[in-house]
Amino acid sequence: RLADLTYDWRDSETSFSDIGGYYDLKNALREDVLEPLRAAQRGDDRYSRFGIEPERGILLYGPPGTGKTMFAKALAGELNIPFVELSPADVTSMWVNESSDQVKTLFSEANEIGQCIIFLDEAEHLFGAREHTAKSAHAEDRKVTSEFLAQLTRDDREAIVVSATNRPGDIDRAILRPGRLTAHFEVGLPDEEARHAILKTHLNDIPSRVSGDEFAALARHTGGLTGADLANLVGQARRSAAHRDAGAVTREDFPSEDALEELSAELAATHET
Ligand code: ATP
Repeated sequence: RLADLTYDWRDSETSFSDIGGYYDLKNALREDVLEPLRAAQRGDDRYSRFGIEPERGILLYGPPGTGKTMFAKALAGELNIPFVELSPADVTSMWVNESSDQVKTLFSEANEIGQCIIFLDEAEHLFGAREHTAKSAHAEDRKVTSEFLAQLTRDDREAIVVSATNRPGDIDRAILRPGRLTAHFEVGLPDEEARHAILKTHLNDIPSRVSGDEFAALARHTGGLTGADLANLVGQARRSAAHRDAGAVTREDFPSEDALEELSAELAATHET
């Protein structure tokens, strides 16, 4: 059914259980997004009775590599609905080709599908405040942005628009108003518990003999690392185990505590800028 469409709609393989930690954020998304949508899907009026509409305009914000894309995919996976990702390059190509029509096509495909998620990464490119985005001075860019806004405010929209940004301050306040991107969630740096869970998640299904205490120590010494940094660290450990032709990944495949502290200071500094 998805095959004839112009955009690359996919089923999402990701679910909340693939995301390590972030329990409060998962709970908030369950309460504000998933539960009301599931209730609507099954015709249960427990939310609509109280005038509560499911959130269909979501902004995830936080440093690069903290899992915003993963969260967007996991929402689609949890709801079992198709997902399309619009990269900043896709948006730029809409601008370059003077194509607010492409936005119309996107949303009409979404309507055809019914419930689905449109994920927009680096949302500040499309929804940047005028003073922050030099490009938005061009009339055609404004057309693409206005078409998005028009689509976002349509009452009959079933598509859930999930957008992500590392620079929430650059987003035009007008986009965050009711009826547009109303629900805002911070995806911050992982805390120690989340770092522990992320390290473990990336060794799922991999032969490993890293003990609980060793994971805990790794998590303690990796303050300031993002989920993406931790995924890299585990990737390197897997490669190290392979080079050793070992039976399993062990603690020795990870850097020493001193080296981790150094890495942690270095990466924490880059994530702050
Ligand atoms: P960007 O702002 O650069 O687009 P992002 O916030 O969207 O980054 P993702 O692309 O979702 O981050 O994360 C990058 C990778 O980091 C993921 O594919 C995954 O491997 C890993 N990762 C990040 N956060 C987590 C997490 N909480 N649990 C497990 N893996 C994670």
